[in-house]
Amino acid sequence: MNSNLVTRPRTRRELLQLGSGIVGTTLLSGLLPFGLGGSVTSQQSQSGQQAQSGGAQIQGAPISQDRVAQMRAQAAAIPVQTQKLRDNIYMLSGPGGNMVVLTGADGKVLVDSSFAGAVPKINAALAAIDNKPLNLLINTHWHFDHTDGNDAFHSGGAAIMAHENCRKRLSTPQEIAAFQMHFDAAPVGAWPRTTFNDKFTLYYNREQIDLAYIQPAHTDGDIYVRYQKGNVLHCGDVLFNGIYPFIDPSSGGNINGMIEGSAQCLTQADAETKIVPGHGPLGDKAALSSYHDMLVTVRDRVQKQKNAGKSLPEVVAAKPTADLDAQWGKGNVTGDFFTTLVYSTL
Ligand SMILES: [Zn+2]
Repeated sequence: MNSNLVTRPRTRRELLQLGSGIVGTTLLSGLLPFGLGGSVTSQQSQSGQQAQSGGAQIQGAPISQDRVAQMRAQAAAIPVQTQKLRDNIYMLSGPGGNMVVLTGADGKVLVDSSFAGAVPKINAALAAIDNKPLNLLINTHWHFDHTDGNDAFHSGGAAIMAHENCRKRLSTPQEIAAFQMHFDAAPVGAWPRTTFNDKFTLYYNREQIDLAYIQPAHTDGDIYVRYQKGNVLHCGDVLFNGIYPFIDPSSGGNINGMIEGSAQCLTQADAETKIVPGHGPLGDKAALSSYHDMLVTVRDRVQKQKNAGKSLPEVVAAKPTADLDAQWGKGNVTGDFFTTLVYSTL
């Protein structure tokens, strides 16, 4: 047994070891959990509508020294799909994380900004809804597939707000060790100017938008965005709808937080709530509940084996997700990768 891995699972060295294993199996095959894969469309179809994720693949993409630039370029080619959720609320999807836009007399409020390369297509999608200006951008967390467009939207006149930890990470160099990716501090224009720690309420376009912090889950800066009147809930990357989620240990993410965070989101939903995941198609309370239960099942199985002294390679080899992979392994995070993420954050 590798006691280091059991007792101190999140040192930089161990995360880099974790990363090299994941890069070998996942990144090399062109499967990145940042919204550039095309395989997250096939699960639930809500209200007769099938959300599209864009469909672009980067099969065989080499590991270059500048994966960020590579992903920006890829994102620029992915179509942005617009899905109407309510009279004045729309979901935008395709490149990067799913976005939500609320529009009206007060101007547009956008949640998440995808990749910088996708901004022209996002602006075209926003203009196709109506001619109201984009006044406010909210980030669900710092990951670059949700914030890389910040600087461009800020230049266009949007104020940016997010959880305090999102600003901290955007304003300092970061690593996603699981993918051996390094990020310099984002440009100053991309930094949220308004932050909060626990809760924040906005009133725009006769809608009440409740923002609330989720304790460390996918990262340590996750929030949900709840549109009270429209009954729409954006869960950020705490929810990957219908697929295993990525969890970012480098940013404080962990499986128990994902379970608690998805349970927290469940308390904000009823049978009519339209639930927007960070990745995957539009969902509902039943989909979120099923996802939560899957997280609990995998966590309990991996915890049991870890408690029994099994090493990470032993647990991965035991395939604790084998019976779940057909349903949940269709996205960019495989059962083995998810098992690794769960083990390393318990
Ligand atoms: Zn993320």
